[in-house]
Amino acid sequence: MITAAIIAVGSELMRGKIDDTNSTFFTRWFEKLGIKVKYRVNVADIGSEIVSAMRYCHDADILITTGGLGPTKDDLTRIAAAEYAGKELVFFPMLWKKIEAYLKTKKYPHYESNKQQAYLWDGVEVMDNSCGTAPGLFYKKNRQIVALLPGPPNENRIMAENQLLPRLEKYKLIQGKFFTDVVRVYRIGESGIADLFAKQDDGYFDIGYYFSNDGYTELHFRRFSEDGTKPSDFDKNVKACKKLLTDNAVFFTEDKPIEQIVYEALLEKKKTVSFAESCTGGKISSTFVKTAGVSQVYAGGVVSYTVEMKQKILGVTKDTIAQYGVVSAQTVKEMARGIKNITGSNIALSVSGTAGPGSDAEGNPAGLVWFGLDIDGTTEEFSVQFSGMKREQVIQKAVNQAFIAILQKLK
Ligand code: AMP
Ligand code: MG
Repeated sequence: MITAAIIAVGSELMRGKIDDTNSTFFTRWFEKLGIKVKYRVNVADIGSEIVSAMRYCHDADILITTGGLGPTKDDLTRIAAAEYAGKELVFFPMLWKKIEAYLKTKKYPHYESNKQQAYLWDGVEVMDNSCGTAPGLFYKKNRQIVALLPGPPNENRIMAENQLLPRLEKYKLIQGKFFTDVVRVYRIGESGIADLFAKQDDGYFDIGYYFSNDGYTELHFRRFSEDGTKPSDFDKNVKACKKLLTDNAVFFTEDKPIEQIVYEALLEKKKTVSFAESCTGGKISSTFVKTAGVSQVYAGGVVSYTVEMKQKILGVTKDTIAQYGVVSAQTVKEMARGIKNITGSNIALSVSGTAGPGSDAEGNPAGLVWFGLDIDGTTEEFSVQFSGMKREQVIQKAVNQAFIAILQKLK
């Protein structure tokens, strides 16, 4: 039987400040993969003690650590792992480029301290982190597989599923094979989806829920096949799960960025789009242009943040603002029409809302966002109240909602 050891690194764990939910999660994760967890160790952010913990676990087939991969001085797991492996850490410029690019897309400030995350040694595989800056590391030490995962639960779970699992399969540490279908679910939290599936779960799939920083939840429908061939009823069951989502009006897409799906749909329908943004500050446009080839369908956009800009550039009337307010159906309608007149695109989308944290000068609550859509001259407006979210999350959710609205119209 294949065995595993889990080392959760972090002084906050040793002081009782947070619960070690990582170990609980990964114990269950290994259990489902048919792997026996032999050791669970908690250790503080002290290099020599992390090395001792790793040595203690030397006879497990798989050794994973969580935590201590961040950019600060107390993040020592990478250094300890190099000592455990008997290797010197070296700076890898390519990895640093990748981390820098991630910081840029997230609009995070760029710190010298992040550089320490780009140190590894030859023979180590990098496991991409789709939700944070700390890359995961994977290597073989004699007959042991070692995987270093970041501490934040949303980062390490998605990394384990998408990066570690395929490697464990490759190294034949999992007898049989998992087949997985992944969808991205928007506008409903993990618990909402879990409730939905709890009602009709027949145990066919092991369903995984992985929250992403980009405001959606990855839903993994996973089925184990002992002989490694795809089960004949796999597709049928995936279809039934997707039908459950559709029947409950849950919006989902296949497993790729939503802006890319919008781009492909526009290309297929031979339509162009433009954006007039207020509270999203240009993020709809900046997200959209991540997709190569987007100039075929994207005319352009404006960020009209103040009332004056909405009037001067987009032609929103004084009366509209006075009578209905800046965050209103009427305003987003005129914003959409305004940008459409400028760009001549087939579709125009506008957004005006209160990102928070407090309510705005007109008394609109934080998280209230109005959207306007002008499609070939027909306009439509709707609002969404995003609740219990930080400013950054409201903005991200509004960006996603903008793409969802366009997609729904292109169906
Ligand atoms: P680190 O990667 O060590 O910087 O950890 C970053 C954050 O991840 C911590 O501040 C915790 O909030 C969380 N975290 C770290 N270890 C664990 C754990 N074992 N269980 C749950 N959360 C954790
Ligand atoms: Mg830490």
